[in-house]
Amino acid sequence: MNKLRLKDIIKTPEVVGIGNPVDVKGWVRTKRGNNFVQFIQLNDGSIVTNLQVVADTDKFDEALLKQITTGSCIHVTGKLVESQGKGQNVEVQAETIEIYGTADPEIYPLQKKGHSMEFLREIAHLRPRTNYFGCVLRLRHAMAFAIHKYFNDRGFYYLHTPLITASDAEGAGEMFNVTTFDLNNIPRTKDGQIDYKQDFFGKHTNLTVSGQLEGELGAMALGNIYTFGPTFRAENSNTPRHLAEFWMIEPEMAFYDITDNMDLAEDFIKYLVQYALDNNMDDLKFLNDMFDKELIARLESVTKVDFVRLGYTEAIDILLQAKKKFEYPVKWGIDLQSEHERYLVENHFKKPVILTDYPKEIKAFYMKQNDDGKTVRAMDVLFPTIGEIIGGSEREADYQKLLNRVHELGMTEEQYWWYFDTRKFGSAPHSGFGLGFERLLLFVTGMTNIRDVIPFPRTPQNAEF
Ligand code: ATP
Ligand code: MN
Repeated sequence: MNKLRLKDIIKTPEVVGIGNPVDVKGWVRTKRGNNFVQFIQLNDGSIVTNLQVVADTDKFDEALLKQITTGSCIHVTGKLVESQGKGQNVEVQAETIEIYGTADPEIYPLQKKGHSMEFLREIAHLRPRTNYFGCVLRLRHAMAFAIHKYFNDRGFYYLHTPLITASDAEGAGEMFNVTTFDLNNIPRTKDGQIDYKQDFFGKHTNLTVSGQLEGELGAMALGNIYTFGPTFRAENSNTPRHLAEFWMIEPEMAFYDITDNMDLAEDFIKYLVQYALDNNMDDLKFLNDMFDKELIARLESVTKVDFVRLGYTEAIDILLQAKKKFEYPVKWGIDLQSEHERYLVENHFKKPVILTDYPKEIKAFYMKQNDDGKTVRAMDVLFPTIGEIIGGSEREADYQKLLNRVHELGMTEEQYWWYFDTRKFGSAPHSGFGLGFERLLLFVTGMTNIRDVIPFPRTPQNAEF
């Protein structure tokens, strides 16, 4: 079986050897040439660089060569030779060409280069064939792999938390309902309420907005766990940083305090960025040259600097003293907007910032309460160009304090009885955080819209495919 990818041939031509036969398959990016020779740029998705196939016109049927157009898929056998032209080391001198699939130039949408990102979003089924999305999707894979490697190497266990749940995880976001009811004929109780007892699960369920609460159950048994799965939020906000379906990584660690949690978050992100620099330089170089001239420098700088660690109250003071006029006015107690977060990171400190000790009113019920009675041991990691990339906290491990907070918020213990059990039986100090996978990818790829770092984005009014 000869299953070399173009990447192997381009990067390590010695696996074939100059002068030896090769067999290559891929999609045609461009074809140019003259009456004597045609140059075909071939790509199979394994690398951003194309492999040049040289076809002497006298060796092939004119009709066959005519069918080789941008987007078509071909199988070429021939000889690997040193390239005469500039821009590549090796090329294939074609001896046979088989056409797997043509792509009618009249209707194939990816004819020229330089399509807008907006246009490409409308053809999400074809955009993986562009150089941009090839790079983004290879990086997406590399980051997913690196995440598992990072945790596996450090003794964390991958825990699969449910996607369908009856818990609303602290109200982290608006939820999508899950039901098998006939929406035209919803069963009602005598007093007119929806009768969820008759629904599939016998209760009201929704798609998860976070795996954290179940993740904590895992941490109280296995010590260190992480989740890595899809999360759903009916965010009707239409921002370049929010999706309705996104992937989240949520480590949860027994015996970690907030400082350990910050250390882990910082080390984790630096590792991932370094992994991209070490393993995906071709993709990064392409994105850097074509899209964002500061990308590689920004990535390198993040791996080297110490992240700033700062309390929310000090951050508010800095923002109050800032010369900049903010759209949302600053005062103690507000939930920071992306403009505030980016001011701190990009203008004031010029490096990533971990903000801690937020007012308890703007954070979830499970965060560990500080002695001041006003703030909780939350931590958000703020990044250049993005704002919040990680949200986390040390968790409240004290049963009574947790119960009081739940009551303050008008919630009941019954809703979360299984969660409270961890505080009743062998409670332990513990911490965790959630990293938005697509927010990480925005940073690593330099893309500016979150719709462009996931293959099939789900946003309001958009769920094609
Ligand atoms: P934001 O304030 O930006 O909406 P959040 O406070 O709702 O974020 P968390 O509930 O703490 O976020 O979720 C953890 C992480 O998940 C965030 O730091 C972010 O990286 C990511 N995230 C949250 N909501 C979305 C979304 N709708 N689309 C993509 N990523 C998201
Ligand atoms: Mn949100």
